[in-house]
Amino acid sequence: MNILLIVSLAVMGALLGSFAVAQVWRLRAHQLVQDDQGGDPVNKTELRRLKRLIRPVREDRSECLSCHHTLAWYDLVPVFSWLSLGGKCRYCKAKIGATEIMAEVGLAVVFVASYLLWPYSLGSAAQLVPFVLWLTACIVATILFVYDTKWSLLPFALNIMLGCLGVLYLTSLVVLNGAALDIGSLIGAVALLGGLYLLFSLFGWVGMGDGILGIGLALFLGDWQLAFLTLFLANLFGCFMLIPLYIRKKLHRNVRIPFGPFLILAWIISMLAGHTIITQLFGFSGTMLNALVL
Ligand SMILES: [Zn+2]
Repeated sequence: MNILLIVSLAVMGALLGSFAVAQVWRLRAHQLVQDDQGGDPVNKTELRRLKRLIRPVREDRSECLSCHHTLAWYDLVPVFSWLSLGGKCRYCKAKIGATEIMAEVGLAVVFVASYLLWPYSLGSAAQLVPFVLWLTACIVATILFVYDTKWSLLPFALNIMLGCLGVLYLTSLVVLNGAALDIGSLIGAVALLGGLYLLFSLFGWVGMGDGILGIGLALFLGDWQLAFLTLFLANLFGCFMLIPLYIRKKLHRNVRIPFGPFLILAWIISMLAGHTIITQLFGFSGTMLNALVL
């Protein structure tokens, strides 16, 4: 275990988590402008507040979403800035949501856990390629996670980006590292995580975005058993979240619950610890699980 590498990964994860949340706000600004121009009803206050985020990259400076004060470098140090300012803007004291710090800490933890639990060795450049593609996918997944949590929507372009990363990831495993790909198992994974949700979306039970997201996630898992575990864990997390809301009668029939965050969380766990969970926690080996389901 290399402590310096672990610290570097944690810092990188926190920085990229901060970057991911910044992208969430920019994407939301573009979405609102697009909806507004298309004649869809939008929240005008939100539109006014976020519209300023759309500008050329070279003029792009991070700013407070409330007072629009340009932020200095010391306001942008992940985790520490948030903690030292007590989650408030230095200039106008407006509250900065917990989203920022949760994404920073979350991605730092995912980066370190990925290194510690990575199922393949990381000795050569060829072996590093799938690892870096996975970390990149985790950044995209963080943006999707936050966006879906806030607005119950999985932006199409990001879903497609995740799918493309999945194809590259599989290709790098097979072509660069000579991994054997079980096509049947891969198709099973795509059918379980993608096909099932696309089918459900036809009935309006979930959004179509969940299905497209599922396909991208399945490409990384590449294994129907891990896809099954992801589905199981996502529903389990969903129940943990929803039952208390239901008991406190805070859940109304017409509220659409974003399912993407549960899927993404379950996917990360399955990717990094799926085989261990299947063989140890459930107490039976993969082959027995095969016999049980088929
Ligand atoms: Zn401010």
